[in-house]
Amino acid sequence: MLKFKRFPNEHVVSTLIRKRIQLAFPSNSSLLNYISLSCSYPKPFDLCSQVFETAQRIADGNDRDVLFDGSTWAIWRLSEPDEILLEAIEEKRNANLRQGELAFKRDWQFCLDCVQEDKLNVGVSYWHTDHQLPGITHCMKHGCPLHTAPEMKSFEKLVLPQYVDLAKSQQHPFSSELYDWSCFVAKIFDSLKRDETIGGQLVDRLKRILAFESNKEAQVTQSCMKYMDQLETEVSEDVLGYLFKYYTRENAKRRLNLIRSALLTENTVTVRNPVYFLILIYWLRNKTELLEVIDDVKIAA
Ligand SMILES: [Zn+2]
Repeated sequence: MLKFKRFPNEHVVSTLIRKRIQLAFPSNSSLLNYISLSCSYPKPFDLCSQVFETAQRIADGNDRDVLFDGSTWAIWRLSEPDEILLEAIEEKRNANLRQGELAFKRDWQFCLDCVQEDKLNVGVSYWHTDHQLPGITHCMKHGCPLHTAPEMKSFEKLVLPQYVDLAKSQQHPFSSELYDWSCFVAKIFDSLKRDETIGGQLVDRLKRILAFESNKEAQVTQSCMKYMDQLETEVSEDVLGYLFKYYTRENAKRRLNLIRSALLTENTVTVRNPVYFLILIYWLRNKTELLEVIDDVKIAA
């Protein structure tokens, strides 16, 4: 059986690609075939079975640690508890409710400074887990905007960051608002890695803050829109425009309703993208109800 060694903060798929180079397999798929893994393209931002199965395959008995540190799994704990996420993975259910509203690309991201540093320190660049968090735009270590690699389309075409064509990659804008947002996403990810229950606690607190006076549909809709007016004046346009198409597309027909998307659409079989919760928590991050949960984690750490 092959043994895999991950670098700090390395995405599990990256570990696999390095192994293929190290063992001189002729292609990514030949290594995948050798270890009996399915070959479709792993989208790093999504909750996808390829990433889950890769984590299990390279974990060597430590699968939970590898999954939480080597993939974006923990951020999805905002959307559902682990058992529901596992069910969704097993049943290969769609894990991207209202994906069409999201504006950001969901391709592999990298930091040029990290690429240089990793080559110097460990001899090769690799894909970092925390550069792949949904909605993140900056490297926490270097504070610079990340690059998005062009879509590599198949597992076969997936390469390490140092081999990505820079001319075809796009760098996120230098924006202090996007940087603040990215710091926030990384912080919540760290909390969720440490404690699964934080996700549910944060969403419960959100529901408490964004309470409705009445259950009547017309009034709920009215309250949602009132909350959205408030959110739009208090959250940076850079962040909203980066995350949601509604804020950058002219003539958008239907108004974006983040409150409904995150908190009100019950009984859905799909898993909501964590960005819907992240943006609401980010908006209300200075409320005592949320600070209590986030600060508790800090003290416990
Ligand atoms: Zn970096």
